[in-house]
This record gives sequence, structure tokens and C-alpha cells, in this order.
Amino acid sequence: MTPAPVYDSTRGETGANFEHATLRGLAGDGGLYVPRAWPAAPAELWTAPMTYPMRAAQTLAPFAAGTIDSPALADMAAHAYAGFDEAEVTPVSDLDQGLHLLELYHGPTLAFKDLALQLLGRVFDFLLAERDERRIILGATSGDTGAAAIEACRRSAHLSVVMLHPRGRVSAVQRRLMTTVDAPNIHNLAVDGSFDDCQRMVKTLLRQGRLDGDERAFAAINSINLVRVLAQSVYYMSAIAALGGGPVNICVPTGNFGNAFAAYAAAQMGAPVGRIALATNRNDILHRVVTTGRYEPAQAVETLSPAMDIQKASNFERLVYDLKDRDPAATARAMAGVDDGRGLVLSDTEHARLAGRFTSVRVDDAETVETLRQVHSDTGRVIDPHTAVGVAAARRAFADDGVPTLIAATAHPAKFPETVADAIGAHPALPSRLADLMERAEHVETLPADAAALARYMKEHV
Ligand SMILES: *Cc1c(COP(=O)(O)O)cnc(C)c1O
Repeated sequence: MTPAPVYDSTRGETGANFEHATLRGLAGDGGLYVPRAWPAAPAELWTAPMTYPMRAAQTLAPFAAGTIDSPALADMAAHAYAGFDEAEVTPVSDLDQGLHLLELYHGPTLAFKDLALQLLGRVFDFLLAERDERRIILGATSGDTGAAAIEACRRSAHLSVVMLHPRGRVSAVQRRLMTTVDAPNIHNLAVDGSFDDCQRMVKTLLRQGRLDGDERAFAAINSINLVRVLAQSVYYMSAIAALGGGPVNICVPTGNFGNAFAAYAAAQMGAPVGRIALATNRNDILHRVVTTGRYEPAQAVETLSPAMDIQKASNFERLVYDLKDRDPAATARAMAGVDDGRGLVLSDTEHARLAGRFTSVRVDDAETVETLRQVHSDTGRVIDPHTAVGVAAARRAFADDGVPTLIAATAHPAKFPETVADAIGAHPALPSRLADLMERAEHVETLPADAAALARYMKEHV
């Protein structure tokens, strides 16, 4: 039998099991859980033909050993990916000159978040059923995560979802992918305020742990959850297999460094990943750290790739831990500087290590639109603005590498119809199963930007 794996926090706590690391998300010391050792994955995972759910179950098995057995994992994975529009789940298609799109947008809510959350929702359900517990997922969303979380939990017997979004500040398609879900355990709240107001309200309640007199604890399924990262490493392996077994370079449009860290995780498990390019928009903290070694949060600005309008890449801490030779005290010191707004400065050795694996490119809105337009006129393909950032970056980062490049195509173009229409002069169509999305009834309550109002709403309705 495979020994049960151990998870440590990047900031010092040690010895969590899979169940604890998954249900907690963030460690008690504020750090992120990482496996004490990355298991070496069998080469079949990136060389052999295999169904997507089978590849996912085999990738996750050593991480969940002792908690979830293989048949149960295979069953969860089969259900998680059954609702995708493509049988291959994440097909790879040729763009041009050695560039390949890894299509991550065929899930129920049209962005790559579905790949992780469809599985994580089921893993949560399984663990809570064993403990005979229920939880309330409480989150704030500026776009794609909320819809993916709602879709992943709508049939759960153990989870309710309370999802806040800033009223009038998410796109109509993004909002409707959340609010048209009609289920008694799903609650959409439109807050009269900004995304930051929503986050502040959620954090206030999360700190309390639960509502007074309610046995259900709050839970978060944000992008620092380890299972999300592990689930995302699966599609890189599947794509390498589709391209003949590698090696490949990978280019990831990045915000929170979750999807990019998943590519690194695949490499840690042995997959033949060459260099990883971080494609940022004008919110370029990750581009700055790769080029200068200084990780310094700045004010976030609005761009045409809104899912990447982030100036603190929460998963970067996992990489910092490795750059510092997995020294939790050194990581905790460095991250304290980030938490209080000063940022961190890598040593020359750490910076060289970072630059040995990662490269980076910053792409502005004008180049994003131009890339969208040019890909359409040259190939007839319609891509979304986040993917366009990735394509522009891959062309610059890997121009003469002679190695195939995978670009993570993170969202369906129909999720960002205005930007796409401005670039190519035509509106991208939604998949046929969502053709009537704009006519469906919405289920949403409006709230003032006030944590007490949120607590009152939850007492009465959740
Ligand atoms: C979430 C998201 C990203 C950023 O992914 P990270 O894992 O946060 O780096 C990029 N593109 C789209 C469409 C997204 O929804």
C-alpha cells in the first residue's frame, strides 16, 4: 500500500493529512499546504492514451492515499468531467508555428476553473459525508470562480454556497452563469459596493468561523486549495501525451499563479516540462519578480483580461518556499513583508533558480486586442482576451525555441463578448446548451456593503 502522504505549511506547521489540508485550505499559521515530497508519477500519465477521468484519478491517487481509495477517486473524476462539452475534456489544437492551444474552457461555466472545482466539490462532499458534517462555502467573486463553485456544488447534500459579487461590475454572461442556477443550497448576493467590499465582508465572517448557534462551519474554496492545484496539473500531462510525450514549453496567462504553479507541479512529478512562461497583463507583479527578483505589490488596474487584474499572486508563496530550500522560517519572514505591503526581494541564487524555470512577458490591452484580431484573421479562430495575452506572450518568449509550446486557453470567448466583438467585429456564440442563457430567470438578492447585513441574510435564508 502507498504510505499516506504528509502536508506541511509553507510557514512552519507540519504533518497535516490530506483531509485536513483539503478542508482547511489555508493553514493555521497563514501558510499554504505543500506535499512534504512530490511523488514521482508514472510516465504513462504523459505518454499513454487514457481517458481524462482516469488520468485525473491516477494523478491524485498518491496524494489522497489512506483517505480516498482509487475506485472512489475514479468515480468522482468520472462524474466531475462528464458534463464537459468535449469528450477529451481539454483538447489540444494547433495554432501555428509550434504553438498549441490547450483548451480549458469546455466545462459548465466556460473557464478553466471548472477543471479543478468540479473535482474539488466532489472531494469536499466525500470528506464531509464521511464526517457527517455540512459546511457553507462563503466567497466573493469578480468573475469566473463564483460560477465554477456554484456549478460544482449545486447538487451537493453537504455544501451550501453563498457567493457575493459587486452589483453591476461583473459581465452579464459571468453574472448569469451564477444567478440562473436555481437550487435551494445556492445563494447569490449582489453587493452595492466594489469587489474589495465583498471580500472584506466575506473575510469578516470567515474569521468568526460560523454563524452563532449554527453547527455548519464556513469553508473557502479559493485558489490556494491544494486539490485545485493538483487537479490542474492533470491537463498539462494530458496535453503532453496528446503532443507525443514532450518535452514542451508552457505559457500560462496568470493572475494568482495557481494555473502556472500547476504546470510547475506537473514538472515536480516528473512530467517533461521545459520552461514556463508567465503571461501577465499590466498587473505585472509576476513579470517584475521574474525579471528583477523583486516581488512588490502595486495598485491593481482594470484591463481587458479582468481575471488577471490581481497584484498579489497568492500561490506564489508555494514557489517562494521551494526557492528558499523549503525553509519555513525564511518563507514566513519573506511573506510577512508581502502581507504588510513591503514585498520581498529574492537573493541572487533564488532569483537565478526562479529564472531557470520561468520566463515572463507583460502584454498591454492594445497588444491583447491586436493578437485577438490577428489570430482571427490568420487562422479563423476566435480566442478570449486572457488567451490572447497568452498567445502574445508565447510568441515573444519562445520564438525560436524549437520545442512545442502549449498555451493555456483559459476561457471561452463568449464569456467576454464585448472585447472580442471590438477586436473581430462579430459576437462570439455561446455553446448551444447555453444559447438561452440571456433569457433565463435570475435568482439573486441585493445587499448593502456591510458584514452585519450579510450575517443577518444568512441567519434568515441559508
Ligand atoms: C482565473 C483566471 C486566470 C488566472 O488564473 P490564476 O490561476 O489565478 O493565475 C486566467 N484566465 C482566466 C479566464 C481565469 O478565469
